[in-house]
Amino acid sequence: MSAKILVIEDNDLNRKLFNAILESGHYDHISAADAEEGLKLAKEHHPDLILMDIQLPGMDGLTATRHLKEDPVLKNIPVIALTAYAMPEDKEKALSAGCDGYISKPVDVQTLLERVSFYLEKAGKETG
Ligand code: MN
Repeated sequence: MSAKILVIEDNDLNRKLFNAILESGHYDHISAADAEEGLKLAKEHHPDLILMDIQLPGMDGLTATRHLKEDPVLKNIPVIALTAYAMPEDKEKALSAGCDGYISKPVDVQTLLERVSFYLEKAGKETG
């Protein structure tokens, strides 16, 4: 049984890219284009890991992560932030919002798969 990853990303091309990368890593994946839909899918599917874009229309990824981390049922799901800028303060913001880690965009295929596998393993999940 492969791990299920939820991708929350508003950019269509990025979302397709992340899904294709996860596909190549043999992960099950579901995706949402905004935080509200993403939170709904998280509640419905209880994914093993979430890739969270920080810049989203409406509710941003940091706020969505705070909601996830306040939810007793969902708080243990690792959340990896996808940050557009590799600025130190953005990384700090992501971590203080409860993100377990972050990846800077543009995302490198190998880095994404390695990070996903690392956080799944850390959470005691199958790595695909
Ligand atoms: Mn975005």
